[in-house]
Amino acid sequence: MKPNFNKSNGLIPVIIQDEATLQVLMLGYMNEEAFEKTKKESIVTFYSRSKERLWTKGEESGSFLKVKSIQIDCDNDTILVKVQPKNIVCHTGSFSCFGEKENKGFLYELEQKISQRINDKTENSYTYSLYQRGINKMAQKVGEEAVELVIEAKDNNDELFKNESADLLYHFLVLLKAKNFSLEDIEQVLKNRVQ
Ligand code: AMP
Ligand code: ZN
Ligand code: ZN
Ligand code: ZN
Repeated sequence: MKPNFNKSNGLIPVIIQDEATLQVLMLGYMNEEAFEKTKKESIVTFYSRSKERLWTKGEESGSFLKVKSIQIDCDNDTILVKVQPKNIVCHTGSFSCFGEKENKGFLYELEQKISQRINDKTENSYTYSLYQRGINKMAQKVGEEAVELVIEAKDNNDELFKNESADLLYHFLVLLKAKNFSLEDIEQVLKNRVQ
C-alpha cells in the first residue's frame, strides 16, 4: 500500500507514535522520496518544510526514530509510523513534542524493556534467550513459577512469596510478548468484566 502524494502537493502528514506505549511523539511531513528512504532504512526521514530538504530525524542529535510499522489511513493521505524512540524526541528537550513521557506505571516499562530485548535480539539477555527457546518453554516457565508461588503461599516466608510473585509476573510478561499480546490487551479483557 502506498500513500497518495498527489493529493496534497506531494507532502503527507506523518504521525509518529511510540510502539510500546502508543504515546503520540511528533508530527512531520514526508514526500515520496522521504517515504521510500524511511521504508528502506527503517529509520524515519521526513521532508522538512523549513529546511526544504530531506531530514532524517536525529541526524544532529542522534535521536533517531527506529521504524516498527508503517500504516496508511483510510483515504491514503496520512501516514502513521510506530517507532521505538532512541532518546527524547523533541528538540526543546521534552520527551515528545506534546509533552513529557506518559507514565503508565512500572509494569508497562518492564513490558517495554522485554520488547526491546526481544526485538533487538540482545546478546547475553536472559529474556532473549528464553524467547529463543520457544513458546512451550516460556509457557512452562510460567507454570513452574506459578507452582512455586503456590508452595510459598502455604508457607510464611514473605520474602520468598514476593520473589515468586515477581518471577511469575515477569515470565507471564515474556509469554504475553511472545504471543504478540500486550498488557493492555489483557487489561481490556479485565475491564470488560467489570460492569
Ligand atoms: P535532529 O533531527 O533531532 O538531529 O534535530 C535537528 C534539528 O531539527 C533541530 O535542531 C531542530 O531544529 C529540528 N527538530 C528536531 N526535532 C524536532 C521535532 N521533534 N520537531 C520539530 N523540529 C525538530
Ligand atoms: Zn485521511
Ligand atoms: Zn518538538
Ligand atoms: Zn521462581
